[in-house]
Amino acid sequence: MKTDVLIIGAGGAGLVAALHAKEAGVDVKVLTKEYPTRSQTCMAQGGMNAVLPNSEADSIEAHIANTLKSAHGEADEEAVRFMCGEAPNAVAWLDSIGVCFSRTEEGVIAQRALGGASAPRACYAQDYTGLKILHTLYDKCLKEAISIESEKIFLSLLKDTHGTVCGAEILDLKSGEVEHYLAKAVIVATGGYSRIYDANSTNSTASTGDGIAIASRAGAKLIDMEFVQFHPTGLKNSSILISESARGEGGYLLNSKGERFTDELQPRDALSRAIDAEIQKGEDVFLDIRHLGEEFIDKALPQERKLAKLYENVDPVHELLPIRPVAHYTMGGIVVDHTSQTTLEGLFACGECANHRVHGANRLGGNSLLEIIVFGKEAGLHAAKYAQAQSFRTPIENEQSLLRVIDAYTNELDFYAKHQELGDLLYEKLGIVRTQCGLEELQTFISQTFEALPRMGVSDTAKAYNTNRKEFLEFINMLEVSRAVVDGALQRKQSCGAHYMREEDV
Ligand SMILES: Cc1cc2nc3c(=O)[nH]c(=O)nc-3n(C[C@H](O)[C@H](O)[C@H](O)COP(=O)(O)OP(=O)(O)OC[C@H]3O[C@@H](n4cnc5c(N)ncnc54)[C@H](O)[C@@H]3O)c2cc1C
Repeated sequence: MKTDVLIIGAGGAGLVAALHAKEAGVDVKVLTKEYPTRSQTCMAQGGMNAVLPNSEADSIEAHIANTLKSAHGEADEEAVRFMCGEAPNAVAWLDSIGVCFSRTEEGVIAQRALGGASAPRACYAQDYTGLKILHTLYDKCLKEAISIESEKIFLSLLKDTHGTVCGAEILDLKSGEVEHYLAKAVIVATGGYSRIYDANSTNSTASTGDGIAIASRAGAKLIDMEFVQFHPTGLKNSSILISESARGEGGYLLNSKGERFTDELQPRDALSRAIDAEIQKGEDVFLDIRHLGEEFIDKALPQERKLAKLYENVDPVHELLPIRPVAHYTMGGIVVDHTSQTTLEGLFACGECANHRVHGANRLGGNSLLEIIVFGKEAGLHAAKYAQAQSFRTPIENEQSLLRVIDAYTNELDFYAKHQELGDLLYEKLGIVRTQCGLEELQTFISQTFEALPRMGVSDTAKAYNTNRKEFLEFINMLEVSRAVVDGALQRKQSCGAHYMREEDV
């Protein structure tokens, strides 16, 4: 199979890249391990930041300043300026293709406040923003006749004798066959890695860091892997996210005594620490939106109410919502330059798996949807331009195919249980507050798990639809990504944004 630009991942970033690459005149194919409309982008609720032309209380300079402040000196100012400057165009483009943003009574796109923003800046579609964006992008891809294939698992990158990326090795879940897709340029848009924290995460089960692990195995550089953002308001028992929009619309945080104890709209790193400090004192922490009233909640936050009832059996119109901070967003990822080119020739990356250095040590709420639209476009355009100047290359034979290796493993140990153990240990030792000795313990656990891998192979030997095999591949990717996160955390001795080392252990 051949295509000019091969895109792996059909979330917001991948689909935006596909639309722009196609418009630039190249042949495009998108592959995804799940169904495109179920990609994690559909879970985004709160909104997408942009200073709109009608906005009098806000400015692009303020958006830049808020983003840089939240990033704790770890963002690239030029990249941030570019992203914030492009934000109005990004929203206008989404509006033009049919995204149904919520409107004010005057008919302009409505905006709400999110943490760390000096003005209401997040454009939203009730609290279904990501879903509306993703589904509209998918419709647009169908209209443009872009080929999207589901249940295709990215296994490895194909390279020619010069080390140039020239395609991808893919496992077709339905048939169990391994396929080679040749391409003049490959874009990885496989999302983040918060699922390494297993159930202590708001993320989709697909956010296993596959693209990052695979790109790294092929020699691409990674950066800032230790910067993992904990969202202040995951539901206590299920880790389901209650969006920042609930606080943006006026929700409070209360401890067991019913007291407010912090500024609810400070950036996520500081707020998560404030909540964690209460929990460490033995307090329960609650989100209270009862005062907003049923009519308002049903109009502005309908999904939050539905999720709280479904997953926590609590109706926030009448009751307090028990919450705790959980892993939510991964700032680290594949190193890319301003054209979204990775350190490997022929390989581009965009979305949460890439690090365009716009979030630094702590992402501002509402800037991820913005990033995937702005840099998805850049990746699509630059990959298309690159592909137009290339011809197809011949890949070298991959002797060490991971599938062949794991199919020889025995099945004495349960890797699902190991993932749960890993997730809980990561949450405890590589969570909101970290210590040198906790990180070292984790490093030892990860090394031991790697050693035990050959005894953790799959139990299901079926060829077709073998999800056990897919999940084992994901587990290996998560283990590799976890190692990179721990190594990064150990190397960064000082606290910075989401990476917070307890003083006495620095
Ligand atoms: C609950 C929740 C709420 C959020 N709310 C907001 C918000 O209000 N505002 C905001 O700005 N951000 C928000 N975010 C963050 C934002 O939604 C994500 O960062 C963003 O959507 C990531 O988009 P993406 O395209 O990079 O990845 P994804 O949408 O995760 O897509 C990744 C794609 O890659 C595919 N893939 C992965 N691995 C493989 C593989 N091995 N083979 C083939 N395909 C693969 C997946 O199937 C999927 O199609 C939220 C996140 C969560 C979890």
